[in-house]
Amino acid sequence: MSKSVLQQDETRCFFLDHKSENDPKHPEDTYQALDKHHVFGGPNRKHSEKYGLWVKICMCRCHRAGEYGGPLSIHNNPNKEGGKDLMLKRLAQQTFEEKYSHEEFMRIFGKNYL
Ligand SMILES: [Zn+2]
Ligand SMILES: [Zn+2]
Repeated sequence: MSKSVLQQDETRCFFLDHKSENDPKHPEDTYQALDKHHVFGGPNRKHSEKYGLWVKICMCRCHRAGEYGGPLSIHNNPNKEGGKDLMLKRLAQQTFEEKYSHEEFMRIFGKNYL
């Protein structure tokens, strides 16, 4: 398993320390169960894993889709401006490009989020 390059403390939800526009008041909840979320899913999930582009986030409030996820969860708000998904994709792309390059990001992930 790769180490996350986006998150130092994997014992708490990423969005506690990185408030998104659509969820500025994420409460401190140390008992929340955490899920591992890959920033780029589908065919890019394996690339997200390889380059450490994943984070630990609250299972219900921040992660899951549909009725099992919160109204502001990442899989209920894909690619939405101000939402957690797009915020995380932008941060991941920037972090990747600082280490490699924009061309390399486009070659591997195939889409520009910035
Ligand atoms: Zn996920
Ligand atoms: Zn959370």
